[in-house]
Amino acid sequence: MNGSAHALSLATCGLVALGLVQQKDELGYQDTPLIPNTRWHVHDGLRPQPRVVTPGEGTAPPSDATVLFDGTSLDAWSGGPWTLGDDGTMTVNGKGGIQTKEEFGDCQLHLEWRAPTYGDEPGPRGQGRGNSGVFFFGRYEVQILDCFQNETYPDGMTSALYGQYPPMVNACRPAGEWMTYDIMFQAPRFGDDGRLQRPAYATVLVNGVCVHHGQVLLGATSHRRAGSYATHGPTGPISLQDHGNPISFRNIWVRPLERAE
Ligand code: MG
Repeated sequence: MNGSAHALSLATCGLVALGLVQQKDELGYQDTPLIPNTRWHVHDGLRPQPRVVTPGEGTAPPSDATVLFDGTSLDAWSGGPWTLGDDGTMTVNGKGGIQTKEEFGDCQLHLEWRAPTYGDEPGPRGQGRGNSGVFFFGRYEVQILDCFQNETYPDGMTSALYGQYPPMVNACRPAGEWMTYDIMFQAPRFGDDGRLQRPAYATVLVNGVCVHHGQVLLGATSHRRAGSYATHGPTGPISLQDHGNPISFRNIWVRPLERAE
């Protein structure tokens, strides 16, 4: 084969290859710049399609969620046991906190809670009013507290990352009404030497209102102490606190957070 024939052959191969690529990449482009730190071109049609999830109606779980409480059983939980109502709820009853039997890492958690009412009585104030909490890994608390017209130290109010960050706003509904929490929790990462490589992050919506956006946690949350990290594994239970107040819960589900390719 002479030089020009070789060049022609290469060009043909190139065209064939290009043709194949174009055939496979009919969804997008591969003549575009690479997106930094990825192996994908801008609008790359060969980039894997995200998997399909069927969303739930309203606050119902999406198709890939793990249902932790649907009102019919406490089977997903150890501890307590809390009081299972015939109205799709479970209620704190002084028997202690509860923890999921399954462990989770980075996740999206949906839960709904309702603080007790006190009729004509003023009821307790501050931290004594509708106190509970949701803990990731048993140590990172998003506070549950009835802060509708009830003030307390801001880093301990409703949806505070306890002892660290108050929420951006107070999005409480009155006691007796259902509140929703949607929490995106990114677990911290530790190296083989046990050192923190990346802190935990939390994004929290209260009743659909964003109150923390990618907030960096300073470590485990604590009462009267600054947060600090201690090494733990990549997954842990989600727990709900018994703080002596009869908070009710319903419709709790969780789904893993995974990074798209
Ligand atoms: Mg609490």
